[in-house]
Amino acid sequence: MRPTSGGTRLLDRFGRISTDLRVSLTDRCTLRCAYCMPADGLEWLPTADTLTDDEVVRLVGIAVGQLGVTEVRLTGGEPTLRAGLPELVGRLAALTPRPELSLTTNGLTLARTAGSGGAAALRAAGLDRVNVSLDTTCPDRFRAITRRDRWHDVVDGLAAAAAAALVPVKVNAVLLRGVNDDEAPRLLRWSLDRGYELRFIEQMPLDAQHGWARARMVTAPEILASLRAEFTLAPLGGRGSAPAELFEVDGGPARVGVIGSVTAPFCAACDRVRLTADGQVRNCLFAREESDLRTPLRAGASDTELAERWRTAVWGKRAGHGIDGPAFRQPDRPMSAIGG
Ligand code: SAM
Ligand code: SF4
Repeated sequence: MRPTSGGTRLLDRFGRISTDLRVSLTDRCTLRCAYCMPADGLEWLPTADTLTDDEVVRLVGIAVGQLGVTEVRLTGGEPTLRAGLPELVGRLAALTPRPELSLTTNGLTLARTAGSGGAAALRAAGLDRVNVSLDTTCPDRFRAITRRDRWHDVVDGLAAAAAAALVPVKVNAVLLRGVNDDEAPRLLRWSLDRGYELRFIEQMPLDAQHGWARARMVTAPEILASLRAEFTLAPLGGRGSAPAELFEVDGGPARVGVIGSVTAPFCAACDRVRLTADGQVRNCLFAREESDLRTPLRAGASDTELAERWRTAVWGKRAGHGIDGPAFRQPDRPMSAIGG
């Protein structure tokens, strides 16, 4: 039983408190990254099931106003596909207390100067930072991984993010065996030259095609070994609830992160909670259960009732993802639908 004296925060049975909310704004995407989506895409959520801007603002408002959430990351799918994104960002930035606002994006729209996905408009609306996914410095490889010929758009998008002071600009990279597993040092050099902070993410079993295999995964120790062949890396320590293990590169101040979600899980210190585009609370990327907030919200539930449902959803968070355990089963929803 969840103690009623647990206060207002999002506490779980293991004493962890969720303060970092990932909000998926859509499950749709403009790319088809091989580790995320099949070439033909997926059956998208019906628009009627997707939270409206008013509903997103209300739920995030409850999270920051009543549940102690301090950081909000907008993600997807591709969040820049959401029409009127700057207006939504502006409304979230106006919440009290104001959360720190970041965006995880494939970067394709960031260089736009008109329309809704441009970096300058997002910055002006109140966005604080961006993480842009880029797995390769080679346009041909990019096309092979994402099934779209858009490498230059991402690179322009990164530059636009830096120019708009969405800093530090972080680059997320996933390495795939036999595809770009030789690129760790090159990606780091490329990122350092441009002032971006690179993070490698171990590939996780969250692809819609269920094509992940532990034996084929490029591991964090492998990534570190290939980086150390060309760079001096000094651990920065103090990982806290941050998933990335951070290293100072060649004496600093530049840094690189390696997120060993599979080989070095950070579950014991996890402070994340997720809200899917259709209004379900997920207490873990790998959770097999979700808690519906959309139905009660649309049925007229009060903020207090919704907050209470949210607390109960987080209370049930499991100790860890258990990927290495015999009972592990990949969640039904892929990363793009959960909100990465
Ligand atoms: N479309 C945006 C993007 O690509 O940045 C946001 C959503 S995407 C699901 C969020 C992050 O999840 C990206 O950095 C992507 O590389 C990562 N990702 C997707 N599938 C993954 C997988 N199977 N394992 C590890 N990371 C994955
Ligand atoms: Fe789209 Fe991001 Fe998934 Fe790539 S990783 S297919 S950009 S949601």
